[in-house]
Amino acid sequence: MDVGRQLMLINGQWVESSDGEFIPVENPSRKGSIIGEVPRSRAVDVDRAVRAAAKAFEDWKRVSPRERGKLMIKMGEALEVKANEIARIIALETGNAIRTQSRPEAMLTADIFRYFGGVASEIKGETIPLGENHLSYSRREPIGVVGGIVPWNSPAGLAALKIAMAITAGNTLVLKPSSEAPLAVLRVAEICSEILPPGTLNVVTGTGSECGIPLARHPLVRKLSFTGSHEIGKTIMEAAAERIVPVTLELGGKSPQIVFPDADELQVVDGVFLAMRFTRQGQSCTAGSRLFLHESIYDSFLEKLVKKLKNLKIGDPLDESTDMGALINRTQFEKVCSYVEDGIRQKGARLLAGGLPPKEGPLSQGYFMEPTVFSNVDNDWRIAREEIFGPVLVAIPWNEEEEAIRMANESHYGLAAFIWTHDIGKALRTAHRIESGWVQINQGVGIVPGQSYGGFKQSGFGREYSLEGMLESFTQRKSITVNLQF
Ligand code: NAD
Repeated sequence: MDVGRQLMLINGQWVESSDGEFIPVENPSRKGSIIGEVPRSRAVDVDRAVRAAAKAFEDWKRVSPRERGKLMIKMGEALEVKANEIARIIALETGNAIRTQSRPEAMLTADIFRYFGGVASEIKGETIPLGENHLSYSRREPIGVVGGIVPWNSPAGLAALKIAMAITAGNTLVLKPSSEAPLAVLRVAEICSEILPPGTLNVVTGTGSECGIPLARHPLVRKLSFTGSHEIGKTIMEAAAERIVPVTLELGGKSPQIVFPDADELQVVDGVFLAMRFTRQGQSCTAGSRLFLHESIYDSFLEKLVKKLKNLKIGDPLDESTDMGALINRTQFEKVCSYVEDGIRQKGARLLAGGLPPKEGPLSQGYFMEPTVFSNVDNDWRIAREEIFGPVLVAIPWNEEEEAIRMANESHYGLAAFIWTHDIGKALRTAHRIESGWVQINQGVGIVPGQSYGGFKQSGFGREYSLEGMLESFTQRKSITVNLQF
């Protein structure tokens, strides 16, 4: 499958970049094979898109929330009809297996629009009881042009989120997908553009430095919503600080999973596996990549987990029987390999599964890696501290509950956490002490629209994904006070 040359969306038109250059998009499951290309936009193209969004804002902000919501629901329905096609594009450009990842992401993409369409009429204010002689009320008003920047690991889902939240709230949007995975986002935008007024949604494709920076710094962009690494998150925050515009940062993680002694069970092994996002090659911000196992179950739990990993089918993302596909690109592949080498070099570490990727055979044709587990890891090691963003799980033993919580919190990240025990009191006590934006107890699933989502510490700030998140992050509150005795 080759999607060919794609254009980008500015003011309802499908256009090239001003200098006519394109960026190739590689298929990660077949090194060097190009599946399409997208415009290489620079500051002048970004400027065009932002100006179109600023112009469209003047009309869009006047459309009632309920009417905007109707359009979101329409887009959700149109996207659902195209879910299989979108899933195939996601699989092709990200390397994420179609059955386990890409199709669920395409379905979620449609669902996100339906959710925000459904809650659109809740964009409302309050009345404030200042006494009989005053009427005081608040309004939730849109902010203006939003600059949305998304990564490659869940491209359509994250793009849908920015589009649905920003536009339902009455803003207009200039969205920049990652140059590693822009194709599904462009397809989603195409479907949306058939329903939205021109200029409401604009998509500019390009690299972070050529297209992302001018978007973050554009004087007409009134709000930044960024999902990506914490390193780039800092740059975005600096750009926001320069003009004092609000910013939401959804950044990385190194999330802990704590397994208590009563949870040495197959269903917990399945849950830990899911929470580690092994079938997404560990390329998830919420991956539970630090496994804190109680000493009494340490060996038996790991034995069951490793057995499960050996049964995974790794390979062609478009094959329905594949469980786990390829990593996104050579840079990421080499980065993950260097972490594995680092782990192997550590004295006392034991490599229980996976390791460095095969140099020959079918899996060497793409950026494939086996699920990798290191045991006897020290919480201070690099592989336990840094976000690897690959299929590498580190297992760390603990004895006292206090020690497990302390180690879980010893991280500059705080995005997600997972707790496994039948003792609900213990689970909740632990959940309350964990420094993370989202704690799951006895499950390791992905986020569902309606749950406010975001990080503690360097995993970012601001909340998205819910009605409250949309109100907090994509509207501004205005108070109006009337003197009734005038
Ligand atoms: P990244 O930070 O390298 O890139 C993210 C986006 O920013 C891309 O579109 C990129 O082109 C753009 N960009 C890069 N440099 C830029 C710059 N200087 N100015 C403006 N834009 C720039 O991240 P990535 O490698 O694409 O994605 C992986 C990261 O994203 C991981 O750290 C992961 O944890 C994080 N992530 C977080 C969430 C969340 O919701 N918290 C969700 C998914 C991924």
